[in-house]
Amino acid sequence: IEEKISDQGKVQNKKPSQPAIFIPVDRSPEIQEARLKLPILAEEQVVMEAVRENPCVVICGETGSGKTTQVPQFLYEGGYASGNGIIGITEPRRVAAVSMSHRVAKEMSLSTRVVSYQIRYEGNVTDETKIKFMTDGVLLKEIQKDFLLQRYSVIIIDEAHERSVYTDILIGLLSRIVPLRNKKGMPMKLLVMSATLRVEDFTENQKLFRTPPPVIRVDARQFPVTIHFNKRTPLEDYTGEAFHKTCKIHRMLPPGGILVFLTGQVEVHSLCRRLRKAFPFRKGNTTTGEDEEADTSEAMRKFKKAKQKKTSLPRIDLDNYSALPVDEGDEDREAGIGDEEDGGSDLDIGDDPADTEEKADPSIPLYVLPLYSLLAPEQQAKVFRPPPPGTRLCVVSTNVAETSLTIPGIKYVVDCGRVKKRFYDRVTGVSSFKVTWTSQASANQRAGRAGRTEPGHCYRLYSSAVFGDFSLFSEAEITRRPVEDLVLQMKDLNIDKVVNFPFPTPPSAEALVAAEQLLVSLGALEEPPRTGRVKEIQRARLSCPITPLGRAMASFPVAPRYAKMLALGKQQDCLPYVIAVVAAMTVRELFEDLDRPGRSEDESSKLTQRRARLTQMRRLWAGQGASLLLGDLMVMLGAVGACEFAGCTPKFCEANGLRYKAMVEIRKLRGQLTNAVNAVCPEVGLFVDPEMTPPTEQQVFCLRQIVVAGLGDHLARRVQAEDVLDPKWKNGYKTPLMDDPVFIHPTSALFKTMPEFVVYQEIMETTKMYMRGVSAVEAEWVPQLLPQYCHFSPPLESPPPRFCSSTGTIRCHRSSTFFRVGWQLPAVEM
Ligand code: ADP
Ligand code: MG
Repeated sequence: IEEKISDQGKVQNKKPSQPAIFIPVDRSPEIQEARLKLPILAEEQVVMEAVRENPCVVICGETGSGKTTQVPQFLYEGGYASGNGIIGITEPRRVAAVSMSHRVAKEMSLSTRVVSYQIRYEGNVTDETKIKFMTDGVLLKEIQKDFLLQRYSVIIIDEAHERSVYTDILIGLLSRIVPLRNKKGMPMKLLVMSATLRVEDFTENQKLFRTPPPVIRVDARQFPVTIHFNKRTPLEDYTGEAFHKTCKIHRMLPPGGILVFLTGQVEVHSLCRRLRKAFPFRKGNTTTGEDEEADTSEAMRKFKKAKQKKTSLPRIDLDNYSALPVDEGDEDREAGIGDEEDGGSDLDIGDDPADTEEKADPSIPLYVLPLYSLLAPEQQAKVFRPPPPGTRLCVVSTNVAETSLTIPGIKYVVDCGRVKKRFYDRVTGVSSFKVTWTSQASANQRAGRAGRTEPGHCYRLYSSAVFGDFSLFSEAEITRRPVEDLVLQMKDLNIDKVVNFPFPTPPSAEALVAAEQLLVSLGALEEPPRTGRVKEIQRARLSCPITPLGRAMASFPVAPRYAKMLALGKQQDCLPYVIAVVAAMTVRELFEDLDRPGRSEDESSKLTQRRARLTQMRRLWAGQGASLLLGDLMVMLGAVGACEFAGCTPKFCEANGLRYKAMVEIRKLRGQLTNAVNAVCPEVGLFVDPEMTPPTEQQVFCLRQIVVAGLGDHLARRVQAEDVLDPKWKNGYKTPLMDDPVFIHPTSALFKTMPEFVVYQEIMETTKMYMRGVSAVEAEWVPQLLPQYCHFSPPLESPPPRFCSSTGTIRCHRSSTFFRVGWQLPAVEM
């Protein structure tokens, strides 16, 4: 093996027909020594040979076998970056792209000008770059600009087992791009790297690769890991269970790092706090900055002091949207903000209960580090460094540590067995983050982290019976999420027939049809013909080309409904408010959950008080009169405004029932969306003023219409008192697609108002089906702003038609009914 992996051997073994290119790399002795221990090194020749002989190659190897760090180096040494093309590697996670580029640069003793990374809105790529790590979203955007990816000689799709939507699409696209490049005499190679052995979705998919690509399996040197199951499975407090288990390991078991898997950021921080308290290591580990006295009422008063002019109320114009300048894109956008598994909401918002029950021996310091995707890079880098002498390393992580990052020196794994996933409810059309059981494959991956350097132990906080019920593998993300944003992105790449796209795992036809329909009704896609042969109509319905509005929408990194609001937002100087509302809707769980049950009677009564106070506060943010009708979205706007006036401190958020992390995220997102809008529509020349002044009455009026234009398919109508036969419909609302009533939540700003028509952001099922993010709609707006959903009558005789001199057309009144449900709508002039 030593000979096989020496550089000498590599050159000699090359086929004589191939030019023996070898670009020398200068590595430090320590690095070289560490490299030689990696299983992938033994396969270097096999890999290089396969790459030479085949356009596409699949590499399959245990996490930690060296795929991500070494394969780009093999290719570099083999001359794949010595010509015009460079080596590109995609990662589904931002953390991995950044940290791997740094690691590879260091291993190769090259500067980050040569081994670089690019993630959304951030990167260090230069003209000298030879190896470029990037997120999959970034490469997808580049394909949009240059379909042949002429800058690259090799693309490596890493972490393909994660089956992230963008990775799947990239593999589909590259399965076409690679043969095209070869046909044009500009050879290009594709490597797909995966941590699990199940690669049939890629290799045995006739639609994808006509000749199945070779699969190279890398044997990992793995030490045995003893699995310990819990006798019983805690249903709720697995963070507490993880705390006890970690304490026990630390107090009773021999040295060796501990890696704890939880599901989200909040949990990770909560456990870190508890562990640091139990085993103090160093002062200053706890969060600070809470000394500021937040003046709640003052901030609120400032924000609410709106000087509203009384003028006529404006109408928004559906055709007046921000158009995209031709050929200019926002290069580094990653689609899907908040899509990361731990970027979303955290269900665990309770504070830590009794920290002291565990009688820990504080004499052995525990060096506790958090790890999750959105953690600052400097913080992340800490997990790779050896812990301070005499301490034990304990990393508390989300599933980023499952396969993307390998932490050295881990001997004990504590696995909560859960993962946070985005779910999509087909009935309500709503997606949400939920904590669920993980798959057997991923639980085994987690366990494997304990046996990297010596035999280890994995403590599963669930019983073996529960494990037996886990699904074998994680399903592809694409099958369990709405696809309208994806379809829009693909249309923006001019892939009109999305149904024919070679997805490794295709989304359901039903989901594709629903997406196409929504995009047509938002005006993002051209309307298919309504007459003609049935088959042709059906075909046309699934291959609608993108419209200019659609292109503008595709350039905003938010869901299409919200993107439409942004595109319309420049009217009446509403953009800063539209951006704030969209940011608040995109960042989930901005408000503390007032429905949360208390753990004890005492706590319940405190919660009741708090609930009353916070509901009061939300009413205050909603304001009176005109602004009240914007409803819950006004509450969001008020919360963002008031929080920024108060300097966005944790204290202010805590006192007012806002999630501090969400508020920080909203601020970031407002900045990003402002940049995106500026790129699309430079004449607006927006800048982010965190402290926005409250909208005027006119602006609120406009905002309400913009919201209706975006959320049109989420329209609901109050059931008239005289129509209530079944008591379950009392105070209920009817929606076009659901049989059951939906309701306005008692904490909503519009709970007392009960407008006849409302639009909602989403429906959450708790004790009832509740609409969240409710905003009132004027009846005449329905035909005006949502004509695509209305059936119009022939022109009415009264009032009589009139000639409109400004447009040169004859305008007449028509009445209409709303599709499916047949609601009578007021006659409007058109
Ligand atoms: P794979 O992609 O197959 O999971 P990697 O190439 O990520 O494997 O990791 C190979 C080895 O490099 C691992 O042992 C890991 O601990 C080490 N490594 C990766 N990144 C760093 C880093 N930033 N600092 C130190 N070691 C690292
Ligand atoms: Mg890797």
